[in-house]
Amino acid sequence: MLISLSILGNFDLSNQKKVSDLSKKLEIKILKQEAKYKPFLTSKEAVIKRNDSLFTILTRFGVKNENIINLINSENSNLLSNIEIGDRIRVTLDKNNQIKDLLYIDDFRSGVQAEKFEGTYKIIKFQQKLEKVQVFKHVVIEDSMYMSGIKEGIPDSVLMDVVYINGWDIDFTHDIRPGDTYSLIYEEILVDGEKVLDGDVLITEFHNRNKKITSVRFDLPNGKSEYFSIDGINVKKAFLRSPVKLSYISSKYNLRRKHPVLHTIRSHNGVDYAASKGSPVRATGDGTISFAQYNGGCGNEIKIKHSEDYTTRYCHLDKYHSRTKVGRKIKQGQTIGYVGSTGLATGPHLHYEFHVNGKHTDPLKVKFPNATPIRSSEKNQFNQVAYHLTKQLNNYKEISLNLIEEVPSG
Ligand SMILES: [Zn+2]
Repeated sequence: MLISLSILGNFDLSNQKKVSDLSKKLEIKILKQEAKYKPFLTSKEAVIKRNDSLFTILTRFGVKNENIINLINSENSNLLSNIEIGDRIRVTLDKNNQIKDLLYIDDFRSGVQAEKFEGTYKIIKFQQKLEKVQVFKHVVIEDSMYMSGIKEGIPDSVLMDVVYINGWDIDFTHDIRPGDTYSLIYEEILVDGEKVLDGDVLITEFHNRNKKITSVRFDLPNGKSEYFSIDGINVKKAFLRSPVKLSYISSKYNLRRKHPVLHTIRSHNGVDYAASKGSPVRATGDGTISFAQYNGGCGNEIKIKHSEDYTTRYCHLDKYHSRTKVGRKIKQGQTIGYVGSTGLATGPHLHYEFHVNGKHTDPLKVKFPNATPIRSSEKNQFNQVAYHLTKQLNNYKEISLNLIEEVPSG
């Protein structure tokens, strides 16, 4: 009060402008005054760990037993009885270390709030309002798809989704050329106007050399969401492009090749992936293990039968994964063994073969069968979603390209 009075005395109130200046200054002073008394309240937060209870956490915060008992005896305290590992508890304590308020945060959007009220605690559930906003990005690739995306400010997790969605059609190590572009719309999730999460990618459009690949997110009736091309084909393929993640192709499919160990001309019926010893080898598609044992030049071998038509074969493995047993079902992407150099091999690599109807086929050229497409019963709804998202993407693109063009002239 004294401070504000002394300020009042320094101003000539006849001038309107000065009056508004004055009120601003007053506000600032008052805020400072409040800040002076703030230290009496302290805020503490903890992430719930194994063996924690509300009691142990509050004791650690320095809260006395009587106060904790008071909280536990308050109406609706059962809302605080099931605390889960990984959730957070935030309390504001007064100068006597008494709980003024307590927040139990379930995830970023909901939880339980306890507030001191007339000697007891008022305990209620709360739910934050989530808001979703769309973010549009257009990227011209200079070096890698990933680095160029980071430069445009696209979060890492969103880029990983872009890689997953397009990774079935585009080999990001070998197919990308500088000047390729991609555009996308993804969601950000806000609470109280602040970003708490990067949401889902809704649409991506890739211009890879002369190919244009558009993928749209669609919610299926089973509650899952998958990505489909504009004409409703699942972006997922029945087979992964490569059975070893971090590898390079050291030898391609070639019907006339001099064998590196035997030094004779023999056809190379598969693709060799050079990778360090022990790198995980993934099943490229769902199927059943049909063979898993040492077999001459192939060394430790695995064969997977995927369907009546498709079989894959993996050679020179150092070791088998424990789940790799003949007759076992295996999922796409599951580790089946580890890269090695057993059998006839000059160094650690995976020799990988792809057989269609019993015939050797070049795994790099074969057109993979698609995963389940959009069902005809959902086709109409899908078409609407795809139409809407494509239109939105084009609008965003038009606006952003116009902005770029207007900068030099304006
Ligand atoms: Zn080979």
